[in-house]
Amino acid sequence: MRARLLTVQNVAVRFAEFPAVHAFSLKSAGNMSQRWGKEEVKDNRLRFFVTMGIWEDSVISMAVEHNSRIEAVDHGGLARNLIHCDGLITDDPSVTLALALGDCLPIVMASDDRSVVALLHAGWKGADKLIARKAIALFQNEYGITPDRLRVAIGPGIRSCCYNEPSTSLLLSERPAWTPFLREVSDGIHIDVAGYNRRQLKESGIYPDQIIETSLCTCCAKDSQGRFLLFSHHRAKNDREKEGRFLVLAAAG
Ligand SMILES: [Zn+2]
Repeated sequence: MRARLLTVQNVAVRFAEFPAVHAFSLKSAGNMSQRWGKEEVKDNRLRFFVTMGIWEDSVISMAVEHNSRIEAVDHGGLARNLIHCDGLITDDPSVTLALALGDCLPIVMASDDRSVVALLHAGWKGADKLIARKAIALFQNEYGITPDRLRVAIGPGIRSCCYNEPSTSLLLSERPAWTPFLREVSDGIHIDVAGYNRRQLKESGIYPDQIIETSLCTCCAKDSQGRFLLFSHHRAKNDREKEGRFLVLAAAG
């Protein structure tokens, strides 16, 4: 279901109807990845945490591996504030999960009572390795949260309007499971990663009314002044725009 997005002080958006703490930073908040910047990234992140009411020392960030390993964390994990994985899950409200992205789809999952939350890096590689399905199994097996008690938010990412990466679509066209999510148009094959993730959610027992989603495309979504809303690796690569990453936050409680 398409959901209402609220803008937070012109630097972030969040879903009006999602139970857990979460936010997606906008390009106006600045680059959030040290891979693409140095000192200013620390300032951008700190300013963003302050705006969102998040304590910087509560943040555990993902260093993505483009795989599907999900790590359970609590405040003990704060000693390593950067964890190599593609998903974090916690039932500790003193911890904030963070993920910097530039096209790959972020998925936030929360139990209906907000006691457990997960943040997933669900680009095509994670989706292909069934990261959403693995997260749902973890909620059930490790925290006793059955699928009917889950709420899922699919955030901004590159959408099929813009995602026409020839090497990726060539690879995926050889996998029958992806066929319904590849669409041939005049400039090549466009990939619907959100659709592939949605099918996984459905197959794991998540009904459409448990899912909220934004159609915001990282590559083409613009604000009312005609400025791009989000960072996009695809756009940077094709238009020689400066690279950057936006930040996703999620927390239990
Ligand atoms: Zn687009």
